[in-house]
Amino acid sequence: MGGLRTFTGLMRRLRALILRSEVKVLGQCNVCGECCHDILLHDRGRWLKSERAFRKLCERKPGHERFEITGRDDWGHLVFRCTLQGADNFCTCYEDRLPVCRTYPSKSLYYQGGWLRQDCGFSFKATTFRDIIMRSRRGRVPKFDEVLRQEQNKPGNR
Ligand code: SF4
Ligand code: SF4
Repeated sequence: MGGLRTFTGLMRRLRALILRSEVKVLGQCNVCGECCHDILLHDRGRWLKSERAFRKLCERKPGHERFEITGRDDWGHLVFRCTLQGADNFCTCYEDRLPVCRTYPSKSLYYQGGWLRQDCGFSFKATTFRDIIMRSRRGRVPKFDEVLRQEQNKPGNR
C-alpha cells in the first residue's frame, strides 16, 4: 500500500499522455483553512516518509521549517501541520506564504497521486477513458434533426 500514491500518480500521468488531455483544476477556495493541517509534503518526486528527508527539504528550501510533524498516515507518509496557521484557521503570513501554498492545489499534486479533501472548494477534472468511449458513442448516434430532415426529403414524404 506504501506506493499507492506513486502508482496513482503514474497512472494519471500515463492516461494524460495517451489521451493528450491535461487535468483541469476547477472551483475556488472557500477559505476553510483545512489544507494547512494534515498536510503531506512532497520533494523531488517523493512524498516525505522520514524526518531526514524533511530536514533535507528544509535545507534546500528554507521556509519549510514552518511545518511540524504531527504523525503518519496509513501508508507511512509523514503528516504535518503549519505552525503559521492562526487559531481562526487563517494564515498569519499570507503575503509571505510559500510557493506550495500559493499554487495549491496544483496540477502537479494531481500527477503525484495526491487528492483533495472532499470539502475543498476546488476539484480536479481529468478526461478518463470512459469519457472518450462515451463521446465516441454519442458521435455515432445521429442527431434528431438530421434524421427528421432525411425522412422529410424521402420522395414519398415530400
Ligand atoms: S481546503 Fe481547499 S477550500 Fe479550504 S482553504 Fe484549502 S484550498 Fe481553500
Ligand atoms: S503558510 Fe499559510 S497558507 Fe501556507 S500552510 Fe501555513 S498557514 Fe497555510
